[in-house]
Amino acid sequence: MWHLDPPNITARDSYVTCVSSTQEAERRQLLLDATDAVTNAGDRFRVAAAAQTLHDLAESQFTVPGIGNRDAVKWAYTNGMRTEAGSVIYDQLMDAPEDERCPMCGYGEVYQLDHVMPKVKFPALCVDPLNLVPACSNCNHIKGQVSPRSIETTPLHPYLDQIDHETWLDAAVIAGSQGELTYFITPPPTWDNTLMERVKYHFGLFKLGKRYGNQANRTLKNIRSNLQQQLESAGETAVRNYLIEESGSRLANDLNGWDGVAYRVWAGHDGFCRGGFGTGSAVSV
Ligand SMILES: [Zn+2]
Repeated sequence: MWHLDPPNITARDSYVTCVSSTQEAERRQLLLDATDAVTNAGDRFRVAAAAQTLHDLAESQFTVPGIGNRDAVKWAYTNGMRTEAGSVIYDQLMDAPEDERCPMCGYGEVYQLDHVMPKVKFPALCVDPLNLVPACSNCNHIKGQVSPRSIETTPLHPYLDQIDHETWLDAAVIAGSQGELTYFITPPPTWDNTLMERVKYHFGLFKLGKRYGNQANRTLKNIRSNLQQQLESAGETAVRNYLIEESGSRLANDLNGWDGVAYRVWAGHDGFCRGGFGTGSAVSV
């Protein structure tokens, strides 16, 4: 959902780097003998990604010749990316997001590399940089071994898709609550139907509505006392202006950040600004 510049390492270079330090000679030769096949698999992956047909890729075309799937992943990725040379690539991919922010959810801290096409099903792509996306532990865990079944069920790819220059995230105060929010997507007119379905799928798969709502609730608890004091001392306009200011600063940094959206929605809600944010148990009024 949040764009990253694509890595500048080729699939071939990454593979050769990761497997070249394999200590056992026979195993190393097996791995190196598969270099062309792995390179071709990387090419097929790129063609399909550009054509938005990742869901059509056959797992049988992404094995590593002569090596079982689990061994290929263990030798090339688990062991290979931990070697000195391989870890340079791993670190470079992990370091790509600014402030270590997870590109899948937009707020978690990156913790590990997620395989866009699951490594056990597509072992020939297990160290392909385009298939490796830094993600927070929540997003990585939630996605697991899920692979695209159709274009509409293909999550956004941070290296290939870019939607963060337009506003698409919104929220609303839940009726009857003390300012709790429900988040949803508002597709800009520039999106076609496919992109809208993909963003919706991504939003649902990574449980972003629920996760953003939880974040907003925690924030509200932290600012409730301040809002109450402002309301009592300077009135609802002061509350609104404070929320507008906080929203503007956050949205200038990220048009679709859950926090900027939260402040914007609270600022635009008259009932909230008049005290609908509640009192909370820790506030004495
Ligand atoms: Zn995340």
